[in-house]
Amino acid sequence: MNLGVYIQVPFCQTKCTYCNFHTGVVSADKYAPYASAVQNEIANHRAFYSDVGISMEELESAVVDTVYFGGGTPSLLEPAHLGDILNSIRCNFGSDFAEVTLEADPETVTADKASAWAVAGINRVSFGVQSFSDLELKSSGRVHRHEDIYRATFILREAGLHNLSFDLIVGLPHQTPASWRNSLGELVALNPDHVSIYMLEVDEGSRLGRELISLGTKYNAPAVPSDEQMADSYEGARELLAAAGYEHYEISNWAKPGHTSRHNLKYWRREPYFGFGAGAHSFNGAIRWANAHDSAQYVSAIQAGRLPAEQIERVSAQQAREEEIFLGLRQLSGINLNQIESAYAASLSEKLSSLQSAGLIEREGSIVRLAPKKLSISNEVFVELLS
Ligand code: SF4
Repeated sequence: MNLGVYIQVPFCQTKCTYCNFHTGVVSADKYAPYASAVQNEIANHRAFYSDVGISMEELESAVVDTVYFGGGTPSLLEPAHLGDILNSIRCNFGSDFAEVTLEADPETVTADKASAWAVAGINRVSFGVQSFSDLELKSSGRVHRHEDIYRATFILREAGLHNLSFDLIVGLPHQTPASWRNSLGELVALNPDHVSIYMLEVDEGSRLGRELISLGTKYNAPAVPSDEQMADSYEGARELLAAAGYEHYEISNWAKPGHTSRHNLKYWRREPYFGFGAGAHSFNGAIRWANAHDSAQYVSAIQAGRLPAEQIERVSAQQAREEEIFLGLRQLSGINLNQIESAYAASLSEKLSSLQSAGLIEREGSIVRLAPKKLSISNEVFVELLS
């Protein structure tokens, strides 16, 4: 069995106004002790898991084939720390790394770092581009600018890191239909192998989200595009990326042939993964758990020989069925209704009929998919199916 390993690096240089992740801006001298704690957690994961009642069961002989450094901004860590963490995984698991991804922000990329990443075994870089418009980048608190995207892409390719994924965000303040088309056009011209497009999330977890709810102005909330414009932008991206040869394989993800994210597919297919670091989530096939978010608390607990695991939850049959539906429908290949109904002894036919009549889903035999033209309102389908 294959296993994914996720490494959370919860540090950033500044806080983007739209960010609702548990990340913080800390002094750089906190990076080394954090990287050591992550190595400690990896080296002692069997004892840590056993202490909190989490069994390794069939995963003892699992082989780690994907590693994902996410954040935060993992490219802020010294390359030597990233290499040491990869070596800890090699020493403590069976491993045959097929895909090792590093999330990187363009302004953090230097030629020295890029070649050290390649030497350490990193073979894929997920790039936080977000927009090609300096006005949008500046007004959402990003550090990088348009020219950094080109500079960093060139450096990574020169270092042999050709497997690149670019992220864009629909809905940044000051985004217009024309600026969105321009960002998409520049992205396609740079020809990354993989593209992720996220919709701006409006919730209490970010400064911009709170301002949109309270109708303030400090973080440019009045310049956030309308829901209709965002839906049109997403639809425009679908058309343009398809024309440029990208396969749309998950609501937010597109790939050139052979370049889907092997690691992220594990999440959507409910395959096992272990997460290490503050706030990292794990799933062993039966139990889900997460580490404490606070990085200082995480480091102290690990140094004291204790796993700061929270939310340890055995997944019930009903939760498993809901996950199969929710995560399965996010993939454009859809779900197999017969399989789900027989595995969980539950009928979905009535709800699916009304969603089909409303044009929100499509059926082909026992395969059910979200209707391609309605992907931007997929939440309506999930709410109905999971209620
Ligand atoms: S770089 Fe990413 S994780 Fe860090 S503040 Fe910005 S959006 Fe959040």
